[in-house]
Amino acid sequence: MSLAIDPSRVDEAGLLRELRAFVEIETPSRNGEAVNRLADHVEAHARRVGLDVERRAGTLGFGDILVLRTPRPVGGSVPRILILAHIDTVHAVGTLAGRLPLRREGDRLYGPGVYDMKSGVAMAIEAMRLCLAHGPSHPVDLLIVPDEEVGSPSSRPAIEALAQGALAALVVEPARDGGKIVTARKGVGLCDITVRGRAAHAGVRPADGRSAIRAAARLVLELEALNDTERGITVTVGTIGGGTGRNTVPDECRLQVDLRLPDMTSAEEILKRIRALRPVDPDIRYEIAAALNRPPFASSAAGLEVFDEAARIADALGFRLEGVATGGGSDGNFTAALGIPTLDGLGADGAGAHTLDEHILLSSLVPRTALLANLLLRLPGAV
Ligand SMILES: [Zn+2]
Repeated sequence: MSLAIDPSRVDEAGLLRELRAFVEIETPSRNGEAVNRLADHVEAHARRVGLDVERRAGTLGFGDILVLRTPRPVGGSVPRILILAHIDTVHAVGTLAGRLPLRREGDRLYGPGVYDMKSGVAMAIEAMRLCLAHGPSHPVDLLIVPDEEVGSPSSRPAIEALAQGALAALVVEPARDGGKIVTARKGVGLCDITVRGRAAHAGVRPADGRSAIRAAARLVLELEALNDTERGITVTVGTIGGGTGRNTVPDECRLQVDLRLPDMTSAEEILKRIRALRPVDPDIRYEIAAALNRPPFASSAAGLEVFDEAARIADALGFRLEGVATGGGSDGNFTAALGIPTLDGLGADGAGAHTLDEHILLSSLVPRTALLANLLLRLPGAV
């Protein structure tokens, strides 16, 4: 296969300069002002490379949403490609000056959000620039959201609206384990449970008490018994907290539970079983709130076609692309659930997402940007 865009055309220095600038502006999801400082920078950069910018004011206290577009061909209704990205990170302001400074060590570039996913944002813009320079192509929308790391509560409607009618959704989340591309993701469920009992003095009237902690302990075992490795269902009680003091029978205990569900059938089944859990003691009450935060993103035939095309391009670029299913959720779950062929993990290769070891492999930037740019030009059905 001859490639429309040769990797030598990737502006590596420019890409790296932007990536460093992105990382130097720290952007924890819940700090809308900080996220908007980076949105300002990204907006200016996008305009410089010739993209149209639509900026939508943030809601729910989050930063703004950016939609970067390649200029539209006049009068055509050519199919559109959607790229999904986010500029928020899980790292607090101060991480950069503290435990995770922006630094290069050999092929590695470390920094908060460098891997998840500021590199993806920089790569997507560069890929769009390359498409523009290449000449007429189909339209591309790059949606950059401010709140992905907390489940995209303010941007989900925008993601779903822009996905409608798109030829494909390409997610520039980081690559997995040695450059792998994500072809399926489990759905993510969130469950909060409050167990209510009755307080009593532990020494004077213990028999009057109904321990919420004891009931919660039993409940934890019931919840975790729902784990089913074979079916890919995981139920994890992540936090537990309760009681007011050593000498009081506790009247309240709270649990936070994480659910990973491979498909809608298992999602409905597990949510139903959790909601149906009942205490053994009639004096104990459960308050259960359980819902799917991100729907499962199962591999589809159309999605695999996009993957096959990406794998052929990678071949021509000299590397092997492998697909993988992961338990981690992303905004790709929303688009896949709408039936849009979705490919995820098109960002940089590296490791340590959400940790102080977060880094990318610098050598992955150019080939994977070239992969993305060529994929934009070669998608089945594209011009
Ligand atoms: Zn991410």
